Amino acid sequence: MTTHVHTVKVRGVRGLLLVLCSVLGFASSAGASEEFDVIARDLYEDLVNIPSSEPRGGSAEIAAFAAKTMLEGGFAAEDVHLLGPRPEVMGVVVRYRGRGQGRPVMMMAHMDVVDALREDWEMDPFTFIEKDGYFYGRGTSDNKAGVVTLMANFLRLKKEGFVPARDMIMVLSGDEETAAESIMYMLKEHRDLVDAEFSLNSDGGGIPYMDGKPSAFVIQGAEKVYLTLKLEVTNPGGHSSVPRPDNAIYELAQGLVNLSQYQFPVSLNDVTRSFFKESARFQEPETARAMQALASDSATAEQLALLAKSAVYNSTMRTTCVATQLHGGHAENALPQTAQAIVNCRVLPQDSPDQVQETLRRILANDRISMTSVFPAVASPPSPMTPAIMELLGGVSAQMYPGLPVMGKMSTGATDGLHVRNAGIPTYGVSALGADMNDIRAHGMNERVSVDAFYKAMEYWYRLMKNL
Ligand SMILES: [Zn+2]
Repeated sequence: MTTHVHTVKVRGVRGLLLVLCSVLGFASSAGASEEFDVIARDLYEDLVNIPSSEPRGGSAEIAAFAAKTMLEGGFAAEDVHLLGPRPEVMGVVVRYRGRGQGRPVMMMAHMDVVDALREDWEMDPFTFIEKDGYFYGRGTSDNKAGVVTLMANFLRLKKEGFVPARDMIMVLSGDEETAAESIMYMLKEHRDLVDAEFSLNSDGGGIPYMDGKPSAFVIQGAEKVYLTLKLEVTNPGGHSSVPRPDNAIYELAQGLVNLSQYQFPVSLNDVTRSFFKESARFQEPETARAMQALASDSATAEQLALLAKSAVYNSTMRTTCVATQLHGGHAENALPQTAQAIVNCRVLPQDSPDQVQETLRRILANDRISMTSVFPAVASPPSPMTPAIMELLGGVSAQMYPGLPVMGKMSTGATDGLHVRNAGIPTYGVSALGADMNDIRAHGMNERVSVDAFYKAMEYWYRLMKNL
């Protein structure tokens, strides 16, 4: 096994010093938890203060910092790996050795962030601050809360002398927000280091708050598959004063009208079935009945049509393909020689992208409309919501949030989890991080996480790691 180790200057290590200084402070478990809250908060601050967006140097510095922190926190050199496809795209893998009872479990987070500009924010995005009950800074939610949750809990459990039944593997990737080369490199070139029975992703799922209260514990168990197609019609063209019977723009437009009137068939997987079943609790009676019927495969056409009125429910229950760009013709007085459209599909993970393209050909109903894929699909099978997984993830939720519904969710965007599922490792997004569902600031300005939600997520993962 080879790892690519690069020496990088490391910033503040206050969190680390606290780790080392507080070894003696754990007589009572409450005391231990308070001690570790301080350590976690300081580590969080150090991580957010490292500007790990791609234009600001990417993950090199933060990866080196994370690896050094874990080494100094007591992990053996052979269990801490700093690795990546390129010096500016570095990841970290840390193995917490267990008693060998069962295959390892991966736990993942990404260290890079989307860039942020000082002038767009009310404060400096790369200076961590605590204000009015919130932690502010780029990456506080996406996904440095996850990074610190994994790191601080590994450090805490190590100091407490905890030995898990099976190995826990922390995987911190370096470019999730851009090319995702980091996770692909680890899965392809270092499978032995990261191979696991399943993966828990801190960058998915969560606890949406409604009216200031947790509404559900959400487990992201699937992601839709992204597929972009280019449609094109060509024609010899000519002078517009003598139109031919065939016309590239009309032919393409007719195909697009056909597409606009087509709906892909409804299909559920484990994850979306759980989503509709649990979501029914929050709905008006008619919608609730439609969701329950859908979840038990007995929905009528009227019930499906009712649910499809919501763009979110519609895209959760079927593959969608929609025209997003259009070009055609070259002069106002010439017959068009080309007409092109871009169609973006979000394919259900259980559907076949090839079949989606075949269906589109049938719907377009014109052999002269060519179809090529601009962004090919990366398959990402839904992760099975097995009783064991639901018991593990839902069990800790039930301890901390008695009575809170636990539901699966399929997201329409993509995370590193896509590649992990593609590599055959079922992946469950369980950030356990609470946030107001109407105030999501990841990738946006003034990104923040509530102080209370942060410590609760820390506690969730602590219990989760002990329960594996
Ligand atoms: Zn993320």
